[in-house]
Amino acid sequence: MGRVFSVLFFLALAACASLAAPQAGARRTIDIAAENYVRLALEIDTHEEGYVDSYFGPVEWREQARANPRSVADLKAFADHIAGQLSSVAANDTDATSRRRARVMLAAVRSARFRLDMIEGARAPFVEEAERLFALRPALRSLESYEPVLARIEALVPGRGALSERVETFRARYVIPDDRRQAVMDRAIAECRARTRGHYALPEGESFRMEFVTGKSWSAYNWYQGNNQSLIQVNTDVPPTIDRALTLACHEGYPGHHVQGIYNERNYRRRNWVEFSVAPLFHPTAPLNEGGGNYGVELAFPGETRLAFERDVLYPLASLEPAGAAAYGQLQTALAELSGARLTISAQYLDGAISRERAVDLAERHLLVSRARAEQLVAFTDHYRAYVINYVSGEDLIRAHVERVAGADVAARWAAFEAIMSEPTLPEDLQP
Ligand SMILES: [Zn+2]
Repeated sequence: MGRVFSVLFFLALAACASLAAPQAGARRTIDIAAENYVRLALEIDTHEEGYVDSYFGPVEWREQARANPRSVADLKAFADHIAGQLSSVAANDTDATSRRRARVMLAAVRSARFRLDMIEGARAPFVEEAERLFALRPALRSLESYEPVLARIEALVPGRGALSERVETFRARYVIPDDRRQAVMDRAIAECRARTRGHYALPEGESFRMEFVTGKSWSAYNWYQGNNQSLIQVNTDVPPTIDRALTLACHEGYPGHHVQGIYNERNYRRRNWVEFSVAPLFHPTAPLNEGGGNYGVELAFPGETRLAFERDVLYPLASLEPAGAAAYGQLQTALAELSGARLTISAQYLDGAISRERAVDLAERHLLVSRARAEQLVAFTDHYRAYVINYVSGEDLIRAHVERVAGADVAARWAAFEAIMSEPTLPEDLQP
């Protein structure tokens, strides 16, 4: 009896202690949940290679995840446990910042939980898959709704034969010659970096390394490596055209993925928010990252400044005729309006409404790309599935938000863009 009593007495003491104000050094639930969340992501990565896109937290956490990964079923139970911790913080914590972190992490854990279902073979319709992984429901338009844009492009590139072939022939004149590629990319990156540094305080020593690769389904990839360093790989299977220089430099580098990585690392190291030390590929911030990367070009080169820089600096560097810059810029602007068709085609293909062959045909016809590029786009869809919404819907979301809060004020636009990277943010936070 004495023993039972002492145990009860001890439990009563423990209960009193947990009701008391947290002592100095006591870990808060939000931080415990954050560590759990990071460990969850690292263990999912052992079941799906590439799930974790970048990680710069404690090395031993990754070693432990790799040495003793739990089963998918156990990880689902763990995810549910973390969701419980986070729900309690989101509902009860007196600190607004903790509630905000909890809300964003809760969305991340729900995404991870669904990814675990997918690892076991579960599939949902395209739009639902997108919403469950990325917390953003894409709006799909019919392919017919893009016909007016195709008609405008028809007028820009008149002639006989299929429009996609004419566009391809036109585009071929703007391919950066192999021996000029490095110089053009270096100059584009330097300009994007300088423009970004004009608005943001980036750490000393931040930099990235760029290399050219082949045989990938993506056209470029930023591997953020921690310590403010990135490795950026550019795929040359489809030879990059001159417009790609600024697109890649801004999207992968400044103010895109490289800068996003720096801000994540800053939140981890300075504010001790460990959830920022891991970046799963499938995550509710993916629309903000990819959309931010795409919108970053417009942010860094507003209005006509992009065309001016390309024509006056990059074209001569690429040994291309600057007089052709305006016509090519006009074509690029029109082609960008077709990007939403990629979602429609991906949805039809993944939902089983059309064959793979048909998806490649439609990509060629409605996105006006070469057969090789169309094949690459569908291969990307095979691999990354609903991830494509992050580029298109994400860009629309970011642009609308930045323009709504900042109007045409350039400095205010940079500030609005920075706020998205600085604070825990979900796509829903950018919706009016
Ligand atoms: Zn990207």
